[in-house]
Amino acid sequence: MVIGQGISAWISDEGRASERDSHMARILLIHDPGESTDSLEAQLHSSGYEVSRFGSEAASGQIEKIEANIIILDMPAVDGIATLRRLKLTRGIQGVPVILLSADSSEDVIVHALDLGAYDYVCKPVIYPVLAARIRAALRLREHQQLLAEANRNLATLASQDPLTGVYNRRHFWERADIEFTQARRHKRSLAVIMLDVDEFKAVNDRYGHSMGDNALIELTMICTNNIRIADFIGRLGGEEFAICCPDADLPGAIRMAERIRSALDHHEIYHQGNSCSVTVSLGVTAVDHRDKNLEAFLDRADQLLYQAKEQGRNRVIAS
Ligand code: GH3
Ligand code: MG
Ligand code: MG
Repeated sequence: MVIGQGISAWISDEGRASERDSHMARILLIHDPGESTDSLEAQLHSSGYEVSRFGSEAASGQIEKIEANIIILDMPAVDGIATLRRLKLTRGIQGVPVILLSADSSEDVIVHALDLGAYDYVCKPVIYPVLAARIRAALRLREHQQLLAEANRNLATLASQDPLTGVYNRRHFWERADIEFTQARRHKRSLAVIMLDVDEFKAVNDRYGHSMGDNALIELTMICTNNIRIADFIGRLGGEEFAICCPDADLPGAIRMAERIRSALDHHEIYHQGNSCSVTVSLGVTAVDHRDKNLEAFLDRADQLLYQAKEQGRNRVIAS
């Protein structure tokens, strides 16, 4: 797994890791206008870091634009702590580790700075190799945090998506549809749902093979996606059954959308491994009735309309 590899690489080869840490890493150096940071900046440069330097009076908006991996505050402790507070509230750099450099070595100040969320506090005069080691440690922490955040994002996607078609899975569709249902009831807003099932899909699999069937499901969801509005969302409720939730859509609007999807599929040829086929769908459409007790009752009604469409010959929209 990516995270494990990343961490073991840092641990197993310190030399290479420190080389990589300094590669591409950008340090945002904020300093007191009275302090000269030329020599520190030169040392950071010679370690391979890119440095963006600002005076402590620089506006948050200016600082926010810098994509820094780490921030160094080189200023008297009181000003450093005030700047730290300001940075913690600045959008875009909230998670970036901050190292304070200050001549003030009093215990209270150091404890206060660390309690406020500074990653580290280094007393002046600075011994550069020690500061450089602390920077590398902060960069490792930052990389670790970013890998974890990315892994969490990927897990959230995996937990909500149908792996074949990329639309929401059943559980996530229900969660989101439940939110829309509650909102629609509370604010007396429209909400429509389209329930859709592929016609005679078993025959498609039997005749052309399962991978043609899979391809048909993928193309079907693409056609649905192309025919819905930005606020609408699709879920795969099971095998070849899908639902489309349409916030703020009334019944006539949802019927038009369902008819567009039905017609687009009816005219669409699916090509796969030298074969081609087409599929049709049956659709049930309904809009929230403010007497609907819960989401289940609402979706059940759409399901019943879908089965009426099947009974009446398939490849059609039935709405109520
Ligand atoms: P109807 O018009 O009444 O809906 O008939 P049908 O054949 O579509 O319905 P049935 O429930 O008899 O069959 C559904 C078929 O869908 C059977 C199953 O193998 C197929 N199926 C379900 N999920 C998948 C999938 O992910 N990929 C493929 N290729 N087929 C699937
Ligand atoms: Mg079917
Ligand atoms: Mg079915």
